[in-house]
Amino acid sequence: MSDSIFRNYIAGEWVEGKGTIANISPADTSDVIGHYAQADAAQTEAAIEAAIKGQEAWQQSGLEQRYSVLMAIGDELIARKDELGRVLAREEGKTLAEGVGEVYRSGQFFHYYAAEVLRQMGETADSVRPGVEIETRREPVGVVGIITPWNFPVATGAWKIAPALAFGNAVVFKPANQVPASAWALTEIISRQGLPAGTFNLVMGPGAEVGNVLINSRRINALTFTGSLETGRKVAAATAVNLVKCQLEMGSKNALVVLDDADLETAVECAVNGAFFGTGQKCTASSRLIVTEGIHDRFVEAVIERMRKLVVGHPLKEGVHIGAVADGRQMEQNLKYLEIAKQEGATLAFGGEVISEETEGYFLQPALFTNTRNEMTINREEAFAPIASVIKVKDFEEALATLNDTHYGLTGGIITQSLKYASEFKRRAKTGCVMVNLPTAGTDYHVPFGGRKDSSFGPREQGAYAKEFYTLVKTTYIRA
Ligand code: NAD
Repeated sequence: MSDSIFRNYIAGEWVEGKGTIANISPADTSDVIGHYAQADAAQTEAAIEAAIKGQEAWQQSGLEQRYSVLMAIGDELIARKDELGRVLAREEGKTLAEGVGEVYRSGQFFHYYAAEVLRQMGETADSVRPGVEIETRREPVGVVGIITPWNFPVATGAWKIAPALAFGNAVVFKPANQVPASAWALTEIISRQGLPAGTFNLVMGPGAEVGNVLINSRRINALTFTGSLETGRKVAAATAVNLVKCQLEMGSKNALVVLDDADLETAVECAVNGAFFGTGQKCTASSRLIVTEGIHDRFVEAVIERMRKLVVGHPLKEGVHIGAVADGRQMEQNLKYLEIAKQEGATLAFGGEVISEETEGYFLQPALFTNTRNEMTINREEAFAPIASVIKVKDFEEALATLNDTHYGLTGGIITQSLKYASEFKRRAKTGCVMVNLPTAGTDYHVPFGGRKDSSFGPREQGAYAKEFYTLVKTTYIRA
């Protein structure tokens, strides 16, 4: 783009918004990444209108065209991972390595779904009526509204956009307003792939306006959302009224269980990685560390030792492990939870200080609480912060009961050398994903992802399971 305003993309055109916002780095508030157009309700409606037209043309496109488009998007993301990862790190605050890794992974999503384009098989059956044959096949669901959060600005878009396009749908994409640069860059790549006009639309803007139009629209066919539980409930309510298909991935309060027989080094690495990397701003983060009494003291001591070595700082600086908190509002929330935990009697065993850097930004030393109980606010509510709390328990049964005692259920982990406990855990953890001797965060793109209870709603995302959401089944009866 020649000018400095990054515009929305509607009906195959780059269009001005009804205003702009400045995209400011949380690691350096003097670093303005750019000014991003803000769509209004009418432009969101126009994007939906364009998508309805674009979808018909895209559905008719050949499989090889869809395959090539998805491969090309994936190739470009991977080729430009360093450049785009840098933009991502600047606007979201995660470290450069995490930003580059996210862009690379996003490219892999597009490659995976390119292959899925060619794997769309139907089924046949004999009818109970002689002489009649039955065929079931999948068709695109139609126009898909995509609403994403700020913490994985490229990946969350990618894991929804790639299957949407692969299965022949059109997209209206509304990213989180804190991180428009990554969404815009992804859109710019998609805009050069020769898609029929309107197949893919980007509408940047606030959830209360742009998001609100999308979730209340009767003209979209499906709405996929990742974000907080509070907003997710609104999305579910609005789409239900219009009988629009809905898929929600929301918050969690994941736990990592550490048993007496755990390999201490593995336990510490998994705890620190799961709780603090990505500045703790992951839906899969392990904010609860449930530890049996025999290993408790050694584990706490070793985790603190490891935390002392974590370098917090500007995400683009070499050697930094923990970048910036995403914005001032999130920082305020983190500090509020630190206070609440102390007031409720938890012991702040390490960290929790606001850190000053050379640049003006939001930096927080990861914090570890001990002497916490599962009933405490810090163990009930999702803080989305680099804060973890240790809950001491007697044995495996108490650990498992504690892990399951939450209204969320995305991921759950266990560190043990016992096959018996690992197998029991795998069966009885009430979470959508289970990790054994691995951090609770970190999932693959070719298998289903999602949670239980208040963490997820609707069909699973990712892998071959994604087709449940992005397609409709048609049953045809044929008499020759
Ligand atoms: P959020 O709910 O505030 O916002 C998410 C998106 O919804 C944004 O694009 C926002 O603009 C939009 N939105 C807000 N209000 C809306 C409304 N009334 N109507 C329509 N859209 C609206 O969440 P966030 O703060 O951006 O993200 C953090 C949350 O996301 C955490 O709870 C985290 O656990 C969750 N998350 C979940 C997953 C997962 O896969 N389960 C992955 C990443 C993040």
